[in-house]
Amino acid sequence: MMKKNAIKLRITLVYTLAMTLFAVFIFIMILLFGRASRIDTSKKSLEMAAEKFSHAIEYDDEDGVTIDDDLEYISHGIYLSVYDEAFYLIEGKTPPGVILPGDFLQEIREQDNWLIYDSQTRIDGYGWVYIRAVSSVEVYHEEFQQLIDIALIALPGAIILSALLGYLVISLQFRPISNMIETADQIEKSGDLSGRINEEKASGELLLLAKSFNTMFAKLERSFENEKRFTSDASHELRTPAAVITAEAEYALENPAAANDSLHIILKESNKLSQLISALLLLARADAGRQKLHLEKVDLSGLFHIVADELLPRAEEKNIRIERHIEEDLVLEADETLMMRFLMNLLDNAVKYGKENGLVQCALYRENDTICGYVKDDGDGIAEEALEKIFERFYRSDQARHTDGHGLGLPIAAWIAEIHGGSIHAENDKGAVFRFRFPTK
Ligand code: ADP
Repeated sequence: MMKKNAIKLRITLVYTLAMTLFAVFIFIMILLFGRASRIDTSKKSLEMAAEKFSHAIEYDDEDGVTIDDDLEYISHGIYLSVYDEAFYLIEGKTPPGVILPGDFLQEIREQDNWLIYDSQTRIDGYGWVYIRAVSSVEVYHEEFQQLIDIALIALPGAIILSALLGYLVISLQFRPISNMIETADQIEKSGDLSGRINEEKASGELLLLAKSFNTMFAKLERSFENEKRFTSDASHELRTPAAVITAEAEYALENPAAANDSLHIILKESNKLSQLISALLLLARADAGRQKLHLEKVDLSGLFHIVADELLPRAEEKNIRIERHIEEDLVLEADETLMMRFLMNLLDNAVKYGKENGLVQCALYRENDTICGYVKDDGDGIAEEALEKIFERFYRSDQARHTDGHGLGLPIAAWIAEIHGGSIHAENDKGAVFRFRFPTK
């Protein structure tokens, strides 16, 4: 559980830490700027109160200096008072028990936790008076303390809330990943590669990740299936000649007179066996990427002639004519042995599956930077549904079962084409046609 949630917790922890640092920073800022702005606000309050007070002072000959009745001398913690030019108190209130300075400056002063603001104003008919506004610094301290109290509750509250909310959002975002982990776990435990990640719940990059996981699972599933089939097909193909050899050897031992025939059969079967083993070895090396290529300039035209010549006796057995349309001196940077095998596999098939008294055509020509060619016969051709499968290992069509072979010739040819950067494909044209292309650059 802990392990599964480790990333989620770590992300939550990191940004909660960042949030906390930010909150501490804000708190320090409040403390620093709080004092400055506190004094600033109190100054403004005093000034405003004094200003208002000055408008409330009137004079007439009968009553002398009077203050508007609506005005309170103590309001919002500010004491207001008015003095004549000789500094005698005319009206107003001062904080009880506090000795205030006797002089009147036109500015704000701080004295023993009291802020004092004096100003002068002229009253029509009377003359100059002094107005004094006094307030306790404590009032602003209290306001500031309240702000700090709120910050002390609100900031940790905001941190906790955002941590919880963040964890929730991350968990939702991580759900597809948890789903991937579960699917991968299930696959590992059951060995069943058909499991897939639910792509519906994912979006954005996670959808891409889920898709690539699923593609990977599908590929793995296919390659495991292929591997299984390959192993079972290979053992089947190996078992048959081995069984024939054993049976013939036993028969020869019991019937020495017929031993010669048996030896011929044994020789034929062991030839087949060694061909099969060498084909399997080649494919195994190809799969492991260990087949070394001995690249050299190969005269492909000459090689095609050699292969065709080699097949002449077999063709003659079936009275098949091999027609050559081979452009001369076509040179390719290639592995000669593999190229020979490539052409041999195609031509051998054409003779094997071509009809008696028929015609096999082979061609080689240049098309810009590509050497192209084909091998064509006039046999039964390849069934439509088999066209895709003939390049699979051990695939043999039903008609092919009565001929010699293991179904490895075309997969090997396809691999040789691929490893030389070329391609091969099969089609039907009154028989089978195998077309191939090799780039020269
Ligand atoms: P093999 O010839 O040993 O069976 P290949 O891999 O060379 O194996 O060929 C695979 C299958 O493709 C053959 O069994 C056959 O069914 C089909 N095939 C190949 N070449 C031809 C062809 N020229 N004409 C008809 N079918 C062919």
